[in-house]
Amino acid sequence: MNGQTLTCAYCGHEYPQDTPAAGSQVLTEHIKVCEQHPMRKATSDITRLRSALVRLIGTDTETELRQMEANIRLAHASEVDKAVSINAIHALLATLPSNFHAARAQHP
Ligand SMILES: [Zn+2]
Repeated sequence: MNGQTLTCAYCGHEYPQDTPAAGSQVLTEHIKVCEQHPMRKATSDITRLRSALVRLIGTDTETELRQMEANIRLAHASEVDKAVSINAIHALLATLPSNFHAARAQHP
């Protein structure tokens, strides 16, 4: 009965009357689609960095990335050079779109 409407701090979206300020499914659902939420920039930054790294490494599938890592480990190259390439491959594996969405789904 305080007459105040809860709004999104980023876009001003008005939540239904009596929406609690935390813990509500309504809030969680809006954050997923809010165009102004910082998560949108984080997600698009990850996508952009990932696509640049994919072009550098040359592949984007889990199978090919794992095969490439195996080949690098067997290659006659310095351990430092191998580590640089393997780190890049691990970054791509960790941010595979399937893994990325699964990880987010676990922390709604
Ligand atoms: Zn919003």
